[in-house]
Amino acid sequence: MADSKGLVLVVEDERAIADLVRLYLAREGFGVHVESDGLAGLAAARRLHPVAIVLDVGLPSLDGTELCRRLRADDDWTPVLFVTARDDEIDRVLGLELGADDYVTKPFSPRELVARVKTVLRRTRPAERGGPPLVLGAVSLDPDRRRAWVEGAEVDLTTTEFDLLAFLLRRPGRVYPREHLLSEVWGYAAAAGTRTVDVHVAQLRAKLGPASPIRTVRGVGYSADSR
Ligand code: CA
Repeated sequence: MADSKGLVLVVEDERAIADLVRLYLAREGFGVHVESDGLAGLAAARRLHPVAIVLDVGLPSLDGTELCRRLRADDDWTPVLFVTARDDEIDRVLGLELGADDYVTKPFSPRELVARVKTVLRRTRPAERGGPPLVLGAVSLDPDRRRAWVEGAEVDLTTTEFDLLAFLLRRPGRVYPREHLLSEVWGYAAAAGTRTVDVHVAQLRAKLGPASPIRTVRGVGYSADSR
């Protein structure tokens, strides 16, 4: 059972999709546990401590967004890759500050889903990310421990929020187009849509409050500046 790449929890009620995802993840060396309804998925997440969760939004007994909300309420920040079936589900996933790390839309290629899972994990693997503390104005980050503070008070950031902020703080003053951020921070080109970047910036600003160093450069993108 021991698996160097770790266990991925797949919560998906469409059997054919779940089987396909299981097959592709297993082929890449992941352990895979599948649940087909929301409450069982939540229990499995708490019991198994997976390295990542592939989470369908439309599920019996407990919807995927609610499952994620309950995990986050427990301070569980396991990376979540949402599987959405419709545009309105994407809006719900992105709009609710659930700490979604990424999403794919049905129908998706299992190969692409596996690539996304690996990207999320690469970003959450400390050895490949760490580095010295980053400080700008009132905001400080510890990349090794993946912790963030504003004016000395710790702030909970999702994996993606942390990576985005760390990326901007590493090169203060430099302005990055959204497409560039999408490729650097999310690890793939603009296919997911640049509004993903805007949504995560908005969430970061909400968490950092007035001390947020993120500046919008109209018509270009974002930068981090001390003020
Ligand atoms: Ca479903």
